Amino acid sequence: MPDTSPRRHHEIVIVGGGFSGLGTAIALRKAGFDDLLIVDDGDGPGGTWQWNTYPGVAVDIPSFSYQFSFAQRSTWSRSYAPGRELRAYAEQIVEEYGLAPHLQFGTRVHGALFDASSARWSVSTSAGEVTARWLIHAGGPLSQPKLPDIEGIDTFEGATMHTSRWKHDVSLAGKRVGVIGTGATAVQVVPEIAPEVDHLAVFQRTPIWCLPKPDFPLGRVGRACLDTVPGVRQIARLASQAFVEATFPVLAHFHKWVPATAALQVAARRYIAAQVRDPATRDALTPTYALGCKRPSFHNSYLSTFNRDNVSLQTASIEAITPGGIRTSDGVQHELDVLVLATGFKVTDRDALPTYPLTSADGTDLAEHWETERFHTYQGVATAGFPNFFTVFGPYGYNGASFFTLVENSAAHIVRVLTEARRRRATFAEVTSAAQEQYMSAILARRSWQVFTDPTCAGANSYYFTRNGDVPFRASTTPEAAWRSRRFPLADYAFGGRAG
Ligand code: NAP
Repeated sequence: MPDTSPRRHHEIVIVGGGFSGLGTAIALRKAGFDDLLIVDDGDGPGGTWQWNTYPGVAVDIPSFSYQFSFAQRSTWSRSYAPGRELRAYAEQIVEEYGLAPHLQFGTRVHGALFDASSARWSVSTSAGEVTARWLIHAGGPLSQPKLPDIEGIDTFEGATMHTSRWKHDVSLAGKRVGVIGTGATAVQVVPEIAPEVDHLAVFQRTPIWCLPKPDFPLGRVGRACLDTVPGVRQIARLASQAFVEATFPVLAHFHKWVPATAALQVAARRYIAAQVRDPATRDALTPTYALGCKRPSFHNSYLSTFNRDNVSLQTASIEAITPGGIRTSDGVQHELDVLVLATGFKVTDRDALPTYPLTSADGTDLAEHWETERFHTYQGVATAGFPNFFTVFGPYGYNGASFFTLVENSAAHIVRVLTEARRRRATFAEVTSAAQEQYMSAILARRSWQVFTDPTCAGANSYYFTRNGDVPFRASTTPEAAWRSRRFPLADYAFGGRAG
C-alpha cells in the first residue's frame, strides 16, 4: 500500500519505548530538548516487560537497583519485583514525566538512512516516514526471540510458544508440557508451571549456575520504613548496588584481581547438593564451565523442582520435533501437548543490533560494518562513521550491573553531546576515530582480566560471546563507567554545520 502519510520532522527520534527510551527521553527533556518522538512496535511502554508475561516473570536484579535513581519506589511488593510491577512502573514513569505526547506505539522501524547534505536521518516506519536531526537507538538486546533451528519445529500439532510471546489462552493444567532451554527465563518458568501440569519435561543442553535469591516480601512495615525512616532507602540502595556490583562486574571483569569464582562455585555446588535429591540429576544440573562465563541465575525453587515426581530433566540432545512431541538422540519419543521455547534471544546477531538496516551517508550498513570490522564503539554510545546517531545499549557499553545505571550513563553521555551541539549551533556531531580507537584499546586491554578468558567458557554456549569470540561488555566498574560517561573530553566529538 503506498505511504500517504505526511512526512514529519523531529529534532530527535528515539527507537524503543522501553526503559532505555524512556530514561533517555527524560534526560533530554530535563536538558531542554522537547521536540522528540519515541517509536515502539509494542502496545505500551516498558519494552521487555511488555513482551515477557510468562508465569514467574520477575526481575533478577534487586528492585532497589532495578529502577531509575531519580524515580525510586518503596512500593515494590518484594525485594525482586514481579514483571507486572515493572510494567506498571513504566506506565507511571510515562505519566510522571509527561512522555505520553512523545510516544507512538504500534510503529515498527523498517530502516534509517543518513543524508549528509541536510545532516538528517530519514527513518522509514510502518506509520510512514519521519526525519530527525539526531537518531537514538534504544532497542534492548533481548527483544528478538530466537527460535531453535530444530528439524520439524513447524510440524508439532500441539500449542507452541516462545516465552516472550506467552499464549495466556493456552491452559497448561493437566497437560504434558516440554520446555526447551535452561537459561534465566526457564529458571523462572519451570518452578511456576510444574505444580499445574500433568508432566513437565525440561530439555537441557547446557546447565546454568543457579544461586539462591535473597527474595523476600517487603510488607507494609518494610515499605513504610523505606518511606519514613531517614537513611533506610539510601542504605537499601547502597547495599543492593554493592551486591549487584560484586555478583557481576567485579566477578566477571576483575576476575584476575578478585578470583572469587572458585569459592562461589564451591558454594553453588553445595547449594545444588542441598536442593536436588537424585545424584544423577544433581550431576546433570551442575555446570562444568566457570561461573560467570554466562549469566548465572538466582532462584530459590528452580533446582528443587527437579525433585517432583511430575518433572523430568532430559539431557539427551533433541533430534527432531515431531507432530506428537520431541524425539531425543537416545531414541525416546516424548509425547507432549504444549511446547515452551525458552530458547532466548538474538543478541549480537546481524539482524538484532539494530533490528533494521541503518545506513550512513556513504552507504555503509551498521550491522555489516560491525560484522566485518567486529564490534567497536565509543562507550557503547557512538560509532565513528555514523554521525548524529547514538545507541543506549551499544556494544562495549554495558558492564553487566543494573540496566538502569547503563541507561542513565548513556543518556548523560548523549545529553552532553547534544547540549554542546546546541551551544555551537552545530547540525552534525560524530565521534572521532581516534577517540573510539583509544576507548576500544583501553577496554580490550582489560580482556585478560576477565573470567571470559577461562578455557571452560568454551563449553558454556554463552550468548555473551559473538561468533568471533568477542565479549562486547564494558570491562569497568559502575562508578568508573558513570564518571567517564559524564566527563569524557568534548573534543572526542567533531561538531559541524550551522543551524539556521
Ligand atoms: P538464554 O539465556 O539465551 O537461554 C536459552 C536456553 O535455550 C539455553 O539453555 C540454550 O541452551 C537453550 N537453547 C537454545 N536453542 C536451543 C536448541 N536449538 N536446542 C536446545 N536448547 C536450546 O535465554 P533466556 O533464558 O531467555 O535468558 C536471556 C537473558 O534474559 C538472561 O541472560 C537475562 O539477562 C535475561 N533475563 C532476565 C530476567 C529477569 O531479569 N527477570 C529473566 C529472564 C531472562 P544453550 O545454553 O546450550 O545454548
